[in-house]
Amino acid sequence: MRLKNIAGSREVIADSRFVIHEPQNQKGKWQDLFGNKNPIQIEIGMGKGRFLMELAAGNPDINYIGIEKYSSVLLRAVQKMEENELPNLRFIRMDAEDLCEVFDKEEVDKIYLNFSDPWPKDRHAKRRLPSRQFLARYDRILSADGRVEFKTDNEGLFDFALLEVEPAGWKMEASTRDLHHDKKLFPGNIMTEYEKKFSSLGNPIYKYIIYREKREN
Ligand code: SAM
Repeated sequence: MRLKNIAGSREVIADSRFVIHEPQNQKGKWQDLFGNKNPIQIEIGMGKGRFLMELAAGNPDINYIGIEKYSSVLLRAVQKMEENELPNLRFIRMDAEDLCEVFDKEEVDKIYLNFSDPWPKDRHAKRRLPSRQFLARYDRILSADGRVEFKTDNEGLFDFALLEVEPAGWKMEASTRDLHHDKKLFPGNIMTEYEKKFSSLGNPIYKYIIYREKREN
């Protein structure tokens, strides 16, 4: 069951100092928010934040921003930050469709998409986070040598994502249909909540890493 309406979650999110409430005002100034010049990486559809919290704890020289559409899901991440604050991690409650209003051109160094919603109906394809429409948004906000890393247990979504890469002007750096048995891509892997659940059922985990060709400006 997806809990979209946990009582009080909106209020907790609205009061939290870990959530950036007017993220569009931060456009082009995200490093100032963290008070350093460290690179910025984001996870879109971060859920309860397990992945980002482990990543941020292990990489204090990188700034992380988690993006999640629903307060009720973000609530859990905020509660975890209250127990164990990480200075290099902040959250935004927003729909990723508005990414370009919140991040400036090339402001982000890496984008993680983990277990994105599959939106199985064809007419909803453009809502899928690895769709060409979203890749065009990532193209604007990602640095020239930035990467998108996508993981899922959904074979149909992965096949769709693979077909979107080239038409959207991206290149494949690496991909696997069984991440947990992949000698090159598995080392250092951090499990997300969904990854823990689905890999424990025996589902293979799919992953790709994509980039853009260097362009002359
Ligand atoms: N990444 C987490 C994991 O792997 O455990 C959560 C995966 S969950 C299936 C997908 C999450 O993405 C949900 O929490 C959903 O609310 C969020 N989401 C889906 N579309 C989104 C969008 N357009 N903008 C922001 N969040 C989105």
